[in-house]
Amino acid sequence: MLLIIAIILAEGYFTGKSFIDVFMASLALAVSAIPAGLLPAITVILVLGLRRIFKQNGLVRKLAATETLGSVTIICTDKTGTLTEGKMQVSHILTGTRELMGDNISGLAKGENANGIESHILALKMATLANDAFVENPDAELKEWVIRGRLTEKALLLAGMQSGLDKKELEKQYPVLDRISFESEYKFAATYHKKTENQNTVYVIGAPEEIIARCADLDMDGKKERLGTAESNKLMAKLETLSQKGLRVLACAYGDYDARTKYDNLAELINNLSLIGFIALKDPLRLDAKESILTTKKAGIRTVIITGDHKLTAKAIAEEIGISAKDEDILEGKEMELISDEVLKEKSKYISVYARVSPRHKLRIVKALQANGEVVAMLGDGVNDAPALKAADIGVAVGSGTDVAKETADLVLLDDNFKTILKAIEQGRVVFQNIRKVFIYLVADDFSELFLFLAGMAMGLPLPLLPAQILWINLVEDGFPDIALTTEQETKGVMEEKPRDPKEPILNKSIKKWMAAIFFITGIAAFLTFFILWKTTGDLQKTRTMVFSLMCVDSLIFAFSVRSFKRTIFRRDIFSNRYLVGGVAIAAILLIGAIYFAPLQKLLATQSLPASDWLVIFAVSSIEIILIEFFKKRIFRNRGNG
Ligand code: ADP
Ligand code: MG
Repeated sequence: MLLIIAIILAEGYFTGKSFIDVFMASLALAVSAIPAGLLPAITVILVLGLRRIFKQNGLVRKLAATETLGSVTIICTDKTGTLTEGKMQVSHILTGTRELMGDNISGLAKGENANGIESHILALKMATLANDAFVENPDAELKEWVIRGRLTEKALLLAGMQSGLDKKELEKQYPVLDRISFESEYKFAATYHKKTENQNTVYVIGAPEEIIARCADLDMDGKKERLGTAESNKLMAKLETLSQKGLRVLACAYGDYDARTKYDNLAELINNLSLIGFIALKDPLRLDAKESILTTKKAGIRTVIITGDHKLTAKAIAEEIGISAKDEDILEGKEMELISDEVLKEKSKYISVYARVSPRHKLRIVKALQANGEVVAMLGDGVNDAPALKAADIGVAVGSGTDVAKETADLVLLDDNFKTILKAIEQGRVVFQNIRKVFIYLVADDFSELFLFLAGMAMGLPLPLLPAQILWINLVEDGFPDIALTTEQETKGVMEEKPRDPKEPILNKSIKKWMAAIFFITGIAAFLTFFILWKTTGDLQKTRTMVFSLMCVDSLIFAFSVRSFKRTIFRRDIFSNRYLVGGVAIAAILLIGAIYFAPLQKLLATQSLPASDWLVIFAVSSIEIILIEFFKKRIFRNRGNG
């Protein structure tokens, strides 16, 4: 920049112009060339992006994250609640003797059945007792009940109530001595109860592998059979069938202990249990889940599912929404424990489902993906997810998650919906494009002015513009449209491009090419106008007024061209951005003032122009715009980015 100013000064010196004039002109050029409006404009763009994301149910907690969102290449999501509706419901109860459907449990545990030894009733009791969910307003009407707690537990509590069980009554009958709340790390919940004078019992419910590993036999309506026999194997086969349907299956088991048994930690007693059976829960997929996954694919973003659920459950869900999950694409938490970070890094290139993982595995997954150059958005809800959310490029918490998760997250999904991440990414991409647009618009005039000056002075012509005119063009005429450009909302097609390489600069190759084209087109147009008019009329003030008007008019039209890198200015909805129309209108009125209003005429050394001159100005501007559009089409055609 300084170099160019020095050259202009030198040229001025050699062509024998007044030093002061030349110096003032180059100073004005220098002032204009500093894109002073850029920083505030970027901030405005980020804030506007943040607001739009908020309107679409996403809360961005860090301003800069708005921009990072645009370059996300992989989303690691939960299944429950984000891809599914999070409205769990008991769909099957499976014991050694019975197979019940969820809609058949109503009233099962009422009256004389309540104290029976039948396994399915016991299963419902366990599901009710080893459960942290509760009814907030038990005195209200049944259908107005508000149940609080984890999704799974709410569904279990509700099933118990439908069958006729009352948690309060049960707890009176079997006083609670101790309990272990569910945690993703252990994948089960347990309660310890006083059963009779001499006997206590532990009830356990949780992920089948965890429970079965701690069971010795199967209880079939009171009759015990060792695990591994034909009868119990039949049950295990059914377990697999249910998981394959995408259902979440929980196993229920109990263990009786002498009341005098001592222990340090309840977990010690969870051994040698008797298996009662399984309860399967279904959680319908969100209607838009499949469509969302399709959108991510088009946008060049990979989605992987990270879940605590069973491999088969996860596989079924993944395939249903269109994520390919062949056996070799699935990695389980316990397999992850056995491989090094190096191997995980390689595997993470194709793994699409991580099943039966614990929160602590998530951090390793984030690191492995990042080592492959991915920009990772990671979802989480629990306290234990915080380290992974922090390490991810974009930590995403669901609105219903814990405060700790929300506080570490960059983005909070207020409606828990997976789709909201996509909306946020879309805005992130728009934000980045808008920064580019504002930048191009701000500097476009500077370079054409430089071109005009360098060429004019090299040919020994007088100064083409006066300092006041230069400043007016850059500060007044460009200012309003530029502010308005921050509100651009060109979402069309942004989700059909590949994610931007995070290392890619604001000015990538295509952008630079287009800018160069713009500089030459507008620079040459301004120079030719100046040269021809000056040679034919010899009227310097009029010539300058014309060149000045031309530079204003062409950039006001250009403001509409820069709205999109993909679409032309010749389209129906070109005036759809009301702010831009307003900004350009204000700038146009100021331009008319600058040409016809006496005090401004004096300040800017302009003079009134007749209509025929405007015709020339508009004709030249139109040719410029057509050329600019021509290059836009050539440069950005079929380009992933820009
Ligand atoms: P996700 O991240 O997919 O929600 P979780 O870690 O919450 O996975 O759950 C892992 C497994 O633990 C589930 O597949 C289920 O078998 C079991 N499980 C989940 N919630 C509960 C609960 N409240 N009580 C008992 N077991 C549960
Ligand atoms: Mg969960």
